[in-house]
Amino acid sequence: MSCDFLSLALPGVQKLSPYVPGKPVEELAREFGLNPDEIIKLASNENPLGPAPSVLEAVQQALPELTRYPDGNGFTLKQALSERFGFALPMITLGNGSNDILELIGRAFAMPGTEVVFSQHAFAVYPIVTQAVGATPVQVPARNWGHDLPAMAAAITPATRLVFIANPNNPTGTWFERADFEAFMDSVPDSVLVVLDEAYTEYVEAGAALNGFDYVERYPNLIVCRTLSKAYGLAALRVGYCISHPQVADVLNRVRQPFNVNSLALAAAVAALADEAYLTESRQLNLDGMRQLERGFSELGLQWIPSRGNFIAVDLGRDAGPVYQGLLRAGVIVRPVAGYEMPNHLRVSIGLQAENQRFLEALAGVLGQ
Ligand SMILES: *Cc1c(COP(=O)(O)O)cnc(C)c1O
Repeated sequence: MSCDFLSLALPGVQKLSPYVPGKPVEELAREFGLNPDEIIKLASNENPLGPAPSVLEAVQQALPELTRYPDGNGFTLKQALSERFGFALPMITLGNGSNDILELIGRAFAMPGTEVVFSQHAFAVYPIVTQAVGATPVQVPARNWGHDLPAMAAAITPATRLVFIANPNNPTGTWFERADFEAFMDSVPDSVLVVLDEAYTEYVEAGAALNGFDYVERYPNLIVCRTLSKAYGLAALRVGYCISHPQVADVLNRVRQPFNVNSLALAAAVAALADEAYLTESRQLNLDGMRQLERGFSELGLQWIPSRGNFIAVDLGRDAGPVYQGLLRAGVIVRPVAGYEMPNHLRVSIGLQAENQRFLEALAGVLGQ
């Protein structure tokens, strides 16, 4: 070889493994010679309802403008978010998915010599964002699969710039309560930015649950990230956003690519935010599906981690790899989470009732029950 190009990369990048997404239906069909129509995918926390008609119409209407650049400031979408959630436009940053936002935050605030704190079993994008900019990842051991917030606060040093916390977390589905969050925020220095990732918050039953938006004014170092990929059903279009102090938003805006959210995504997001009925249906389907899977696991004698997301991590009590393979052969795609230090679990996204049923039957078959 002329040159070992890997050795030229940042040391943190050399240590990364590429993110492994859920296996696409087409790929499984090719590999196992299966009919794509007979495969179900419960592997990427996608909305099983399919796109809302209101969204399809909005995208259709935006199509004639494909030759033009999108509105680089996303004014209409920011306006819609502002009306819905009550934040002034300078507090809103839009992203090409909320992963884009997470990366903007990493690029703007982390660098070699600084530390970024996140939990064991947390979303895979946090270490990627950290190591991609040469910062030092500090992974704090989980407690009962969830974030150990006091331990995370204790892991903060003068070098810490960012803390990533997810509520609920993916892939565990675990969550924390308001009082624990407040105690945590009260113990974090003002100069450390806390990124509260609420990708699944729309699935969380309202009421007692923690809502990051309630805290943005009180804690200027808090950044709340949300996405249109999950409950709003726009995963393919890539739209996310964050609410933060205007000065934080200004910094993010300096490193943001000028047209990071495309015009179809902008139009779809505005329509999706206005479609209360779709959101309500997504939520209800998810609640029912969650109960269905929990009942099914119970009947199979399996344990699971209680989840507030649109997915659930089931404990097979042994290496989950062979079970995952067996499910693939039966045309059912779920997500192995060995890369999250959870080798005995599989993460299953909540599907339509018939998909959940088919998964449970396939699982019983693979387990020989
Ligand atoms: C799915 C997910 C996201 C959102 O990803 P997008 O880039 O918005 O599609 C963010 N955080 C977590 C924890 C997730 O699971």
